[in-house]
Amino acid sequence: MTEREKFNYEEFDEVLEELKQQEYEKVALQGPDGIKPQIIDFADEMREHGIEPVIIGASTFGACGIADDKAETMGAEALVHVGHTRFLHPERADMDDMNVYYLPYREDRDLMGVLREHYEEIEADTVGLIGVTQYMDRAEPAREFLESKGYEVVEGKTGLRTTEPGQVLGCDAGAAHNISHKVDAFVFLGSGHFHPSQVSEAGKDVYVVDPYEKHIWVEPANSLDDEMRAEYARVLKHKDKQKWGIVTSSKKGQNYMRAVEIAKEKLEKHGKDVYVFVEDRIFEPDYKGFGIDIFVNCACPRMTKDWQDMAYVSPKALEMLDKAEEESTQ
Ligand code: SF4
Repeated sequence: MTEREKFNYEEFDEVLEELKQQEYEKVALQGPDGIKPQIIDFADEMREHGIEPVIIGASTFGACGIADDKAETMGAEALVHVGHTRFLHPERADMDDMNVYYLPYREDRDLMGVLREHYEEIEADTVGLIGVTQYMDRAEPAREFLESKGYEVVEGKTGLRTTEPGQVLGCDAGAAHNISHKVDAFVFLGSGHFHPSQVSEAGKDVYVVDPYEKHIWVEPANSLDDEMRAEYARVLKHKDKQKWGIVTSSKKGQNYMRAVEIAKEKLEKHGKDVYVFVEDRIFEPDYKGFGIDIFVNCACPRMTKDWQDMAYVSPKALEMLDKAEEESTQ
């Protein structure tokens, strides 16, 4: 199978037409791991049409990491961001200062075959239909199929950061939260635990129609609660530390300045010395040596895991400082 057959190139051809109409001479390309061969293929096609390609080397996990500044540094007049839909910033920061073309990746796996074969395992009368962008082009046939089998289907709305109805991100299950009160469970089009676990926080079981595993499995409701409890425990462990760090990212969609301000205010209210850090990608070794043992994550909200040697917690976990103070004064 050639790269052209593996990827839905129709959307790329439309973008290419637009780039030619705009008479761009140099255009940057950016995408996630997994579709790097297609990026090279797109670069070849652009060159064939007289457009010089520049490729952003680092892979991207989402359109939160739009690389228009790097494209501009290289003299590109536009950027084609492959793999994700446009990312809306929850703090309403501007996400694309230059000409950015979003080219969502549609995964060519037999999701409908999995749904047809295993739908009887979905034990719910009314379901919310949601998924990741790679499969949202199959939301309509999935809805029709489920309705033909007697399920009532409530379509997801857009979330805080998303643009396709029913689409979720690792940091935004708004599409599920918006309809949670109307459904018994969710039917999720996609794979892996990262997105379904976020959806499960809407308080209902999530039936994952997984074209990789080729079956439907269940992510139980509120499956991230253990992670939150672990964060609370980290805050309690470090509550008497004087120096606290706050980390945000220079990636546009992971730069949460309002969250930084709120976390800083809260920590200062508790008498802490607060230091704000910024970096593109967040790696624990970069934060060693400052003499700080605990950092608050104001970058990608889903990357709040305990580091090897230091603690990393979400702004929400700082509630524990209030709680600890209340308890100590009782
Ligand atoms: S979960 Fe993180 S990497 Fe994914 S879109 Fe959200 S901010 Fe970006």
